[in-house]
Amino acid sequence: MKLAWVAGHRLFGRRYVLPHPVATALEHVFGEPVGSVTVIEHSLYARIHPGMSATTRPNRILLSISGSEFVANPDLLLHEYFHVLRQWGTGRLTRWRYLIESTRLGYWANAYEQEAREFVAAASEGYRRYLRNLNLI
Ligand SMILES: [Zn+2]
Repeated sequence: MKLAWVAGHRLFGRRYVLPHPVATALEHVFGEPVGSVTVIEHSLYARIHPGMSATTRPNRILLSISGSEFVANPDLLLHEYFHVLRQWGTGRLTRWRYLIESTRLGYWANAYEQEAREFVAAASEGYRRYLRNLNLI
C-alpha cells in the first residue's frame, strides 16, 4: 500500500477542504456557492509548471503549495476562484482560448489574467473585511 500512498498523497496531491469562514467569505464576494470547486494541494501538475503556485481547470484548482498557504494569501485565492467561477464556469475560458491569448500577449497581458487581477483589486478589501468580521463572531 505504500505505493498507493505515495501516488495519492505525494504525486497527485490531495484534496484540501476550505475552512468554513473562508468558503463563506468567498461565497459572499462571488455571490454564488463555491462548494463545487475542488482544491488539490501539493499537486504535481501544478509543480511541473515552474513559477506557478496554482493552475485552474473547470471546477478545479491545482496548487503546488499547501491549502493553508493558499488561504493565507487572499489575493491568490480570489484570483484562482475568479478563473474557475467567472471564466471556466461561464464557458468563456477554454484551454484553447487561453493558449491563443497567451501566445499572442504573454502571461501578464492576456485578457484572462488582466480580468482576474482587476477583480482582485476591486474585491480584495471587501473579502478581507468580511472574513475578519466572520472570525470575530
Ligand atoms: Zn491567473
